Amino acid sequence: MKKLYNGTLYIVPTPIGNLSDITHRALEVLKNVNLIAAENIRHTNILLQHFNIKNHLISMNKENEKDKSNNLIKELQKGKKIALVSNAGTPIINDPGNILIKKCHFFNIQVIPLPGACAAITALSASGIYNNRFCYEGFLPSKKKTRCDLLHSLKEETRTIIFYETKHRILESIRDITEQIDKNRHVVIAREITKKWESIYGATAISILKWLQEDKYRYQGEMVIIIDGFKPLKTTVITKKTLDTFYILRNFFSLKKAVLITSKIHKVSKNNLYKHVIKNNNDNFIETMYN
Ligand code: SAM
Repeated sequence: MKKLYNGTLYIVPTPIGNLSDITHRALEVLKNVNLIAAENIRHTNILLQHFNIKNHLISMNKENEKDKSNNLIKELQKGKKIALVSNAGTPIINDPGNILIKKCHFFNIQVIPLPGACAAITALSASGIYNNRFCYEGFLPSKKKTRCDLLHSLKEETRTIIFYETKHRILESIRDITEQIDKNRHVVIAREITKKWESIYGATAISILKWLQEDKYRYQGEMVIIIDGFKPLKTTVITKKTLDTFYILRNFFSLKKAVLITSKIHKVSKNNLYKHVIKNNNDNFIETMYN
């Protein structure tokens, strides 16, 4: 068995705007660790000063993460407690730190995550389009072709889709969403969450584009885009073609399975097809859908 070192890496989320959103536990950890690995020392110092915390900081950002993480592992192996913070929100979520965390797991060093602010989840919670299933896609690619390809590939994604975006590209990105996904798809822009000019606005993609174009102050600051998932059209009409498929499949599968496959092939409601088959049943289908 690998040796378990005493050092611990704490992953500490910090506020995404409103400083009161830091947790008591985060402050305790930042006060008591041996050192803080910060994405940007100056930025984190402002936070620490606000809470009257003095501690040793070292910088670890995207550029130096590989080298710095080796040094940090050595410190952890000596038994040090280290806090990892990014400029805002949860480290790792489109922020540096994953190389270090992977190495901690490799060297059997304890990693303790603290819950806290994350723009994607906070935006999602207020979007009104959450359906229990979502995918987080980080920043939309800056190159138009790559962005359009990605959006096109997500056209029929049924989960709610979350993107981070900047004010420089938001208009282009929303335009691409109207073209590659659907101009009538419901989209929410959650901007400057927890800050003075916080706004959460939802409409069809094309209306969002017009709304943003009307006033440049509507797309200043930081923002999250939430896109409603694809809703496959389910017809209530059971055609002869659908029934033909069903009866062929029924020769090979259970009632439940034959209904399910047919509904997928013909994009009809599973329940409607089931009811139709039962109502017009002239063979010996005595199973239930749920057997
Ligand atoms: N680690 C962070 C988190 O947990 O959300 C994300 C860091 S990422 C480099 C920064 C992006 O997060 C911004 O460009 C924006 O898309 C989003 N973001 C951060 N703070 C935000 C806020 N207060 N309101 C809306 N979006 C925010």
